[in-house]
Order: sequence, then structure tokens, then C-alpha cells
Amino acid sequence: MKSGKQRRNEIKAARLKRMAKRECSANPFKRPIPEWAVPVNQAEVHYHSMFFDIPLFYLDKEFVCKDCGAKEIWTAKQQKWWYEIAKGALETTAVRCSACRKKIREEKERQKKHMREMAERDPHKNEAFFKKTLKNHAADAPKARAADGRRYWDTK
Ligand SMILES: [Zn+2]
Repeated sequence: MKSGKQRRNEIKAARLKRMAKRECSANPFKRPIPEWAVPVNQAEVHYHSMFFDIPLFYLDKEFVCKDCGAKEIWTAKQQKWWYEIAKGALETTAVRCSACRKKIREEKERQKKHMREMAERDPHKNEAFFKKTLKNHAADAPKARAADGRRYWDTK
């Protein structure tokens, strides 16, 4: 059976530990560096603002996906890749979870495939006729409007 004093000390120790952890992630520079922090290679990072402090370490960061609202961790390792290999500006940060990013990637891929298919398809056998008709129509339109006595923004 623990005494009241022991319990209080335990609670206090737990609170101090929690506070230290929170401050570590809020301001890593003034606190002991957690062993899982990944050092920043300052020569490799890019930033657009002169007043932006270059961090010394990447720390795992929790964020909320702006599309689906899911919580995800942006790991220190992923940050290092983004800022130093992919050359993302330091002002940028993770905004979408991996599932939403995958969805966007797939949609882009689908559109690219569609455009490729459109470019490679056989022309319609009447394509020359359609093009000629469209061209004639465009050329005749102002004349038709003038003859009609209406301006293009009139609706009646
Ligand atoms: Zn999401």
C-alpha cells in the first residue's frame, strides 16, 4: 500500500515528464535533444523567408489532414526527405495524410493516361469535316449576330 506522499510524488514526476516532453516538441533548441531526433543538414535545406530559423533537428510531428481530418504523424525521417532530397521549402509542411495523397496521385495518373489515350487514338473518320464546320461557324457568328441586330450579351 502506497502512502499519500508517495502517490503525490509519483503524480508530480509523471506531470514533469509530460511537460518536458511537450516542451521538447514545441522548442527543441532550448531542451535536451531527444535521441530519436534526426539532425538537419543545413546546407541542403531551402527556405524563402530570410527570417525563418533553420531548425537543428527534425522531430516527429502530429498533424491533421486538411481533406479528411485524420490525424497522422509526419516522421522526422519523412521531413528530412522532404526538405533535403525533394527540396521542399522550409515554410512548407505536411497537410494531407498518406491515404489522401495516394488518392490525388492516382487521380493525376488516371488523367495523364486519359490524355495519352486521347492523343494516340485514331482520328474520327469525319474529323476533317467537324473541324471545317467549327471554323466556318466561328467565322460566321459575328456576321450572324450583326444581321440579327443583337449584341452578344443580349439574352432575348
Ligand atoms: Zn486525409
